[in-house]
Amino acid sequence: MKKDQEIFNLIDAEQKRQEEGIELIASENFVSKQVMDAMGSCLTNKYAEGLPFKRYYGGCEIVDQVEDIARERLKELFGAAWANVQPHSGAQANAAVMLAVLKAGDKILGLDLSNGGHLTHGSPVNFSGKIYEACFYTVNNDGLIDMDSVEEIALKEKPQLIICGASAYSRDWDYARFRKIADKVGALLLADISHPSGLIASGLLNNPLPHCHIVTSTTHKTLRGPRGGVIMMGEDFDNPWGLKTPKGVIRKMSAILDSGVFPGTQGGPLEHVIASKAVAFGEALSDDYKTYCEQVIKNAQAMANAFNEKGYDIISGGTDNHLMLIDLRNKNISGKKAENTLGLADITVNKNMVPKDDKSPFVTSGIRVGVAAVTSRGLKESDMQKIVDWIDQVITNPENETLIHSIKRDINAFMKGFKLYA
Ligand SMILES: *Cc1c(COP(=O)(O)O)cnc(C)c1O
Repeated sequence: MKKDQEIFNLIDAEQKRQEEGIELIASENFVSKQVMDAMGSCLTNKYAEGLPFKRYYGGCEIVDQVEDIARERLKELFGAAWANVQPHSGAQANAAVMLAVLKAGDKILGLDLSNGGHLTHGSPVNFSGKIYEACFYTVNNDGLIDMDSVEEIALKEKPQLIICGASAYSRDWDYARFRKIADKVGALLLADISHPSGLIASGLLNNPLPHCHIVTSTTHKTLRGPRGGVIMMGEDFDNPWGLKTPKGVIRKMSAILDSGVFPGTQGGPLEHVIASKAVAFGEALSDDYKTYCEQVIKNAQAMANAFNEKGYDIISGGTDNHLMLIDLRNKNISGKKAENTLGLADITVNKNMVPKDDKSPFVTSGIRVGVAAVTSRGLKESDMQKIVDWIDQVITNPENETLIHSIKRDINAFMKGFKLYA
């Protein structure tokens, strides 16, 4: 069979784009060759509805082993007692959890979207805001989550589920305090660690597993695996609603969450992606990966310092993790314009709402910048200074096409010195 030239030429063009540009989208990363190879394997041909060793299809002996290894490696990585590696994405993991533990109309409390939260934490355009009644906490004037106000809102609203975790929050989380609040109002506590999961697995940030009832994550952000999601628990427990099996036994939360994934919200699992997750979890258990995560944090802090020196307004003043959110209002450029103009120089960032934003989500006042991807390419602290210099020149001269083209040429030449695949 001939290769589909139309598509494979586009894949080649995308590879070139990834190789030559500076990738600063905080939710992206570059996987290893073996993570990609597992994804592009014959496991895509296999149906395997159900769980390892309990399937609704024959011929699952091999994928059973693959999925079981993925679960075991993930549990080891985070110190979890239970895990499900089938969610197709982070959004699917959250949908499965909410379907499993909530009834339509129940109340959820999450971080406001314009303050760094995620669509699946109760946005009115998402299932989570349409099926459940959402209320929100915010950050304070210093850009930090105000735990006293979280408690106040929780006591007033009495949510069934509290969610901690964000897509654009650069500080660590006080999971223990969240748990105290959840216990006070009888809520379940979910931590969505989609962004910092790799840094948590490496022990560089607080681990929510000992404090939160349930933890969800993507696998493709700092964790550097294939696109996908996972659900974990630090310990299993009897469901609080007294639900029983047909034999009269109280159902465990693990069983309720498993059925939230399948048959609740998904059909057959993607065993080729699960194999790739297993490979990525194996990599994440290595010393090399811990060194990588340490470099991610060093790079993020070097970048934040460089932005601060040039008078950029970083929300909360700096970062504990791999990302930062920058309010560009003092630089007289919108998030949209900054994203587009930086794109012309092959620097990829995304526009992002900032706290108290006065612009629409299509325009925004800020950009979100993350260093997980460039750190995988091998860039170090001194390179962060160089990147900030380029960003500053573009943002302060957005109409200067000659300058932007010459920066783009410099960047393309510079990035050729760093390999795309480890
Ligand atoms: C990225 C992200 C998700 C969604 O992940 P997808 O794989 O894009 O569905 C969910 N929650 C948070 C906090 C995220 O940052």
